Amino acid sequence: MSKYLWPVIHCRNPLCLEPIRLPYPSPPDIFQGQPMWPMEWWKTLFACRECGQVYEYRAQDVRWAAFSLPGPNQRGSAMAVYGIDFVCVQEGCGTQLRLHVVRDAGTTTQEIADEIVRGRIAVQCEKGHPQQPTQMQNISVVSEV
Ligand SMILES: [Zn+2]
Ligand SMILES: [Zn+2]
Repeated sequence: MSKYLWPVIHCRNPLCLEPIRLPYPSPPDIFQGQPMWPMEWWKTLFACRECGQVYEYRAQDVRWAAFSLPGPNQRGSAMAVYGIDFVCVQEGCGTQLRLHVVRDAGTTTQEIADEIVRGRIAVQCEKGHPQQPTQMQNISVVSEV
């Protein structure tokens, strides 16, 4: 079976280190070499799918790893990036931020809001200030692949 290069970031939680596969429109096969990572991803907050911890990632954190592409009807064959926009509630901070999570395409923004309320996504600002889950209403699909 052919293998394709997918961009991944590795969770920065030392107890987790799970690779987070990122959506990518047309992953090259492993013989084509590593493409450049688009600049729009230069610096972003990402929540790990496994442990829910939030860290800041930069373009140099993106690695390329070989995956067999799942078939069209298999789980994981389509992914989407969701953006959670919020303003830090910490007094004196007020930083405006967008946190990203990767989920299967078709996940509803309500399902993501539920995950936040249940504490499955540890929302915090880039300075580490924890947020109130009930204030995380502004969730949108950023891109689908
Ligand atoms: Zn993790
Ligand atoms: Zn803050």
